[in-house]
Amino acid sequence: MTEVENQKIQAETIVQARPSRRIRDYQQIGIYKDINPLDWEDWHWQLKNRIRSKEVLSQVIRLTPEEEKGIDKARGRLSMAITPYWAALMDPEDPNCPIRRQAVPVRDESIIAPHEMADPCAEDRDSPAPHLVHRYPDRVLLLATDHCAMYCRHCTRRRLVGEHNEDEGDPETKFNAAVEYIKENRKIRDVLISGGDPLTLEDEHLERLIQKIRAVSHVEFLRIGTRVPVTLPQRITENLVNMLKKYSPIWMSIHFNHPKEITKRCKMACDMLSDTGIPLGSQSVLLKGINDRPYIMRKLVQELLQIRVRPYYIYQCDPVRGTQHFRTPVAAGINIMEKLRGHTSGYAVPTYVIDGPGGGGKIPVGPNYILSQAKGKYVLRNYKGKIYTYLE
Ligand SMILES: *Cc1c(COP(=O)(O)O)cnc(C)c1O
Repeated sequence: MTEVENQKIQAETIVQARPSRRIRDYQQIGIYKDINPLDWEDWHWQLKNRIRSKEVLSQVIRLTPEEEKGIDKARGRLSMAITPYWAALMDPEDPNCPIRRQAVPVRDESIIAPHEMADPCAEDRDSPAPHLVHRYPDRVLLLATDHCAMYCRHCTRRRLVGEHNEDEGDPETKFNAAVEYIKENRKIRDVLISGGDPLTLEDEHLERLIQKIRAVSHVEFLRIGTRVPVTLPQRITENLVNMLKKYSPIWMSIHFNHPKEITKRCKMACDMLSDTGIPLGSQSVLLKGINDRPYIMRKLVQELLQIRVRPYYIYQCDPVRGTQHFRTPVAAGINIMEKLRGHTSGYAVPTYVIDGPGGGGKIPVGPNYILSQAKGKYVLRNYKGKIYTYLE
């Protein structure tokens, strides 16, 4: 990269540093203006009052015809569900608002590209027990629920989530086979509880599940994959963090995609988790028109460090059915990595990965810094494009 390009990036970042966070106070929104603040802060109230219809949503934002068609077509597929908290962050007039695009279906979602799949990462194939995916030797993924607080329109697990099934099974017994499998496989030292969103479970159900996994002596630690601190921060209660604290070490990966998601309320939730001793990481999905510009991703990762969240992964958007309108070229991701590494704190730089279609697992991709390699010699370039030779 040239000095001029470099300066351009710096300038771009400064220009964008003033966020266009036209976030409304929920009391300014007609349908929420009489809501008791205690209700607004109650996560059960937020879940119960999720927006599921055009009629309600059109009282919060001005819907476009694309969105109206999208909502109609989403019925019976990945349904729409938007917490009032998330809805209040939407720009009522701008259909390109990143908060809005992640939550409101559009007509393009019903276009299925030829290479798109229902289960692009072949998780069902690698499932040795119900609700369990075992791909890597020492760790497993446990899908604890098919519910989320909000259904992301780019969801890679849309084949499973979205409340298709009325009956989720008996919470006491549904994970028995999965826990048995973990018990019998002594190589499993890391269990990632995801879903759906495990933090949509009631504290007691989540605790019982955690207890059962924790009781397996070769499991060294747990991780929770969630988006709740972003879509429903009210869920992070004293009760929840006190419960989680008992099962330390627990790590948490939070799905963040755009700086606009980092609100004061979200920070409060992350602070509670961090203060409890839960290390926080972020996972982002590269999404066209949402976070595919380097300055936006840079702003996101830098702001994440400010709320004590360590950027962990950026995912190439999986080829899951109906997500073509979100997918960027791989070059867009590599370009973002090029403009992060060296240009900002190393702690702010996540790993860009492609989840190998068909079950390859996460494969890191990024700029190439090794220009040539010969016996005892590496020719490298740095983030500015300067060339250095390292002799072994
Ligand atoms: C992502 C993932 C994991 C965890 O991978 P890490 O790179 O350790 O975070 C484990 N199992 C499956 C099936 C996954 O998709």
